Amino acid sequence: EDHILEVKNLQKHFHLSGDRVLKAVDGLNFSIKRGETFGLVGESGCGKSTTGRTIIRLYEATGGEVLFNGKDIQKLSGDDRKKFRRDMQMVFQDPYASLNPRMTVGKIISEGMDIHGLYTGKKRKERVSQLLTDVGLNEEHAGRFPHEFSGGQRQRIGIARALAIEPQFIIADEPISALDVSVQAQVVNLFKKLQKEHGLTYLFIAHDLAMVKHISDRIGVMYLGKLVEVATSDELNAKPLHPYTQSLLSAIPIPDPDLQKQRKRVILQGEIPSPLNPPSGCPFRTRCPHAMPECAATMPPFKEVEPGHFAACHLL
Ligand code: SF4
Ligand code: MG
Repeated sequence: EDHILEVKNLQKHFHLSGDRVLKAVDGLNFSIKRGETFGLVGESGCGKSTTGRTIIRLYEATGGEVLFNGKDIQKLSGDDRKKFRRDMQMVFQDPYASLNPRMTVGKIISEGMDIHGLYTGKKRKERVSQLLTDVGLNEEHAGRFPHEFSGGQRQRIGIARALAIEPQFIIADEPISALDVSVQAQVVNLFKKLQKEHGLTYLFIAHDLAMVKHISDRIGVMYLGKLVEVATSDELNAKPLHPYTQSLLSAIPIPDPDLQKQRKRVILQGEIPSPLNPPSGCPFRTRCPHAMPECAATMPPFKEVEPGHFAACHLL
């Protein structure tokens, strides 16, 4: 199969003062097919943003590998490295903090084109206008400054900036969670439209499974730095295997009252443990309604339970 991204045993540990180690990302395995949207979900602090940042090399991995178009991103040099910086782009969570307030929108969008020597003069101007139109803004906006725009419009500018250098792959880190509910759907629809028009592949990071399951082809569920389940969105929704996924899904209201009755609400006990001091064995065991002695003793392997459906739980 044509995988644009393969993540193998990826690890990002932060060494803190007092010999403490924060295992933010601790041995992830998943891959993303060209043209699909892979949703990465989990509660805040589970390591999903760190995963995105390590894949795009804002952070250096402390273990494992990331293959992009078959090449190990940590070993790229020269032209391959330059190409990688074009091919993979990021859209950030906070549209207020991620745009330079002193730069015009036109300058913000064309900065990457400067770096990569793409389009000059009249072509550049046309390209900026086209990008603004593509994201639902217009060419007059090029001369304005970020503070003149709403949150949703700023996120559109952030998306235009990411698109400017014609990437193949976009990591969107909670791109709608800072926006008003009324504009969230519009921005999600924009992502979908642009995916079709530009043949993009997305890693879509979110804490909200209800949202991610609509936009994603496949989903990975993270808990305390580890993936606990990966499946297609449909499969995960119909047949979640991991107790954590089951609890997340059970919290999402279903319009059909009969289905809603079948899906018993699973309420988790306790808080997410500190990632600085994770439980032994299965990371979920302190909150799992099915925890057994074995769960404290050994970490369940992340295995393919059914074709294309992976999960890590001793019950499986
Ligand atoms: Fe629950 Fe044990 Fe499965 Fe972990 S391994 S999810 S604690 S049953
Ligand atoms: Mg985050």
